[in-house]
Amino acid sequence: MSCAEPLDPDLLESYLLGRLAPDQRDELEAHVFACPECAERLEGLEALRGALAAGPRRRPWVLGAGAAAALALGLGITLSWPPASPVDAPDPGPTAAPFDLASLGTFEPPAYEPRRLRGGGEAERRFAAGMEAYARGDWVAALTDLEQATRLDASSPAAPFFAGVCHLLAGDAEAGSAALAATVALGETPYLEDALYFQAKAQLLRRDGAAARTALARLEAIDGERAPEVRALLERLASAGID
Ligand SMILES: [Zn+2]
Repeated sequence: MSCAEPLDPDLLESYLLGRLAPDQRDELEAHVFACPECAERLEGLEALRGALAAGPRRRPWVLGAGAAAALALGLGITLSWPPASPVDAPDPGPTAAPFDLASLGTFEPPAYEPRRLRGGGEAERRFAAGMEAYARGDWVAALTDLEQATRLDASSPAAPFFAGVCHLLAGDAEAGSAALAATVALGETPYLEDALYFQAKAQLLRRDGAAARTALARLEAIDGERAPEVRALLERLASAGID
C-alpha cells in the first residue's frame, strides 16, 4: 500500500519537536499508524535527529492516536476515535491524471486502546485478542480472531466492524464490505455511522460509485460526526458525474 498523501516533512519535524496542536498531533499519529510508508519516513527523520539517543524506542502512535471520546462497550476494551479526518484525495490540478474513484477511498483506521480483560466468554476473549493484533497493525492476525469472535457472537457489532476495517487495510475491499454489512445489518449500534463510512470507503476502493453514494446518502441522513467529510465526498462524486 503506497501513501496517497505523504505527510509533509516540516509537519513530521514539528511533531518530533512536540510543536503540533493536539488535533494535528492526533491526526498525524492516526495517519502514521496506518501508513507504513510515512511511519518509515518519521522513523528516518527521528534517527537523523538523534532524538532517540536516550531511552528505548518509542512508537507513540501505536496507542496514542485519537484521544477523542472513548466508548466503553463492556467488552474489555476502550475504543477511542480520531477526529474526522480531512478528505484524503489530492486536488486534481490542470495536469492531474484522470479522476480515479479509488483515490477517494483512502482512510484513517479508527483508533482503539486495548484494555485489560475483566472476564467474559470466548467471543470476548477472541475479540480482545483480535484488537491486540489490530493495535500492533497486524491486520491479518487480527482478522482470524475477529472473524472467530463474529461466529461466536453474531449480535456484537464491534467484531465484524473491525474485521471489515482489517480487510480494507489488508487490501480486500470486497470482504471488507461484506463484514461491514454485518455491522450495518445490526441497525442502531454505536458502530452504525462508522460502519457505513467504511462501507462507503470500501465501495470507492472497488470503484463502485453508485454503491458508495448509497452508503454516503445514509450517512448524510444520520448527520453525525463524519457529516462534513461525507458532504465533501458527495460533492466530489457529483462533480465527477456520479449521481
Ligand atoms: Zn502516508
